Amino acid sequence: MASKKLLLLPGDGIGPEAMAEVRKIIGYMNSELKSEFVLDEGLVGGSAYDAHGAAISEADMAKALAADAVLFGAVGGPKWDSVPYDVRPEAGLLRLRKDMELFANLRPAICYPALADSSSLKKEIVEGLDILIVRELTGGVYFGEPKEIRDLGNGQKRGIDTQVYDTYEIERISGVAFELARTRGNKVTSMEKRNVMKSGVLWNEVVTATHKTKYSDVKLEHMLADAGGMQLVRWPKQFDVIVTDNLFGDMLSDIAAMLTGSLGMLPSASLGAPDAKTGKRKALYEPVHGSAPDIAGTGTANPIAMIASFAMCLRYSFNMIAEADRLESAVAGVLDDGLRTADIMAEGKTRIGTAEMGDAILAKFRALAA
Ligand code: NAD
Repeated sequence: MASKKLLLLPGDGIGPEAMAEVRKIIGYMNSELKSEFVLDEGLVGGSAYDAHGAAISEADMAKALAADAVLFGAVGGPKWDSVPYDVRPEAGLLRLRKDMELFANLRPAICYPALADSSSLKKEIVEGLDILIVRELTGGVYFGEPKEIRDLGNGQKRGIDTQVYDTYEIERISGVAFELARTRGNKVTSMEKRNVMKSGVLWNEVVTATHKTKYSDVKLEHMLADAGGMQLVRWPKQFDVIVTDNLFGDMLSDIAAMLTGSLGMLPSASLGAPDAKTGKRKALYEPVHGSAPDIAGTGTANPIAMIASFAMCLRYSFNMIAEADRLESAVAGVLDDGLRTADIMAEGKTRIGTAEMGDAILAKFRALAA
């Protein structure tokens, strides 16, 4: 790949602290592995509001659209709780998702062996867990029209949201799921509510047809979304890739997330359609957690979710599979060594801060490359 243009948007709160640890890894990759990442940086969220009066400036938006990948930290905090709705910190992230047309949200739920004891489920149920939830991100009930609270004129009001999916939206999200499954366990479970929702009936039909025409080598199973939620906590290791709509994906990915312990451990990726000429997908990588204002500035945040988001970026945007594997192994290795930030601290382990965790992961990463 000729260029590797990365835009860093650290954001607010612990965002910049976690991003600093990724910057160390990129610095090492550029100087010693000759990875040739070209870095640019911008403002998003509250920091962008303070500088430009907008949750992201037009100039930074243009940089995001021109980049090969965007690394996003976190936005928000009490300082900006009362800014106008349109320029609230989250509006920056929503604008990025919308303008980059990021329709596929990837949320892995991986349980590192060293952290199996900190799950709310029994160790044998989660140890070694590695599933990927692919959530449709730009359609469905969060965006469908009409969307309003209607005054019925008789003292009553009616709240209306509309669940709506077109064939092409289901085809493209299921295509992403099937393609990813081919690189993993080769199995997709599609979840909807075809028993009570017309959009669920169409979802089921289109996923089945997409599978038949293009991906029949991948194992496909269908499961009602409520049963899927139950199965996720009963025996999650039965799943490889789960594909589902925006609403169910929102809930199912949070359930899957908590199987694996702390918010500070969870990465995510949001992908767009492949460019017709280059085949490259627009992509944004971000930790699942927010800006954690309660610990911002204390040097105690866990940078693993941000670092693991960068590993996803290596894997999905730059096809640097060996490096991504090695970075993920470095994270697992540091946990095996008993090093822990405060959020994942356990008896008998060694508590360290954000920068020490970043340094330890970089040292392992470097050792694994040797
Ligand atoms: P949060 O994820 O910021 O924090 C929830 C709890 O988890 C806090 O106790 C926090 O200290 C802890 N935590 C989160 N990440 C951690 C990490 N990396 N290491 C250690 N501990 C960690 O969620 P919240 O408190 O509900 O929201 C705080 C702010 O973040 C709000 O302004 C919210 O709107 C915003 N937010 C932003 C995003 C985003 O940028 N994508 C996502 C969620 C929330």
